[in-house]
Amino acid sequence: MLTDTDLVSRPCPCGNGEVETTISTPTQGPISSYSIRRAHRIKCADCDRQYVVDGNTIVSRTDLAAYRAANEQWSTAFRELNESSTAVEVRTALAAMLATFRTKNAAHDYLTKAGLNDATYSSFIREYTGANEYAAGLHPLDLPQLLRFLGHDSGPFEEKLQALEAIRRSTPSVQLVMQL
Ligand SMILES: [Zn+2]
Repeated sequence: MLTDTDLVSRPCPCGNGEVETTISTPTQGPISSYSIRRAHRIKCADCDRQYVVDGNTIVSRTDLAAYRAANEQWSTAFRELNESSTAVEVRTALAAMLATFRTKNAAHDYLTKAGLNDATYSSFIREYTGANEYAAGLHPLDLPQLLRFLGHDSGPFEEKLQALEAIRRSTPSVQLVMQL
């Protein structure tokens, strides 16, 4: 796509150099905030060592690295929990149970009794697409309740959920240095 580009410079955070922004605007088709592209570059060795561009902001390199590492750790732990044998087994058991019901009405009554459904009757009937889909769509946070309802000890699974929450709580925040 053909574009017009503009270069805009502003002082960097330390004031001894510049942050350069390349603004690309398409010359064809509708121009919206989605079609205008902004790319920022820190042109100051001192600031570039300490800071990094993240979207339309400048943030601390160490903050951003710590934040991304914690997020990655959380995602890995979440995936492991979501795909753990406990999660797979309890979802399979629920799907098998739901498959025995002939009507959505019966599935609604069972899931409400299990403490898993808090949707209204009409929205449940509209959104329920089948036993396997429902079981697969359960969030890990719903699984302790399901474990208890099916007569299992939910303790070990809840401990893992708490470990997940601890990662979330200890995720550092990224201080904004400059809005671009
Ligand atoms: Zn600087």
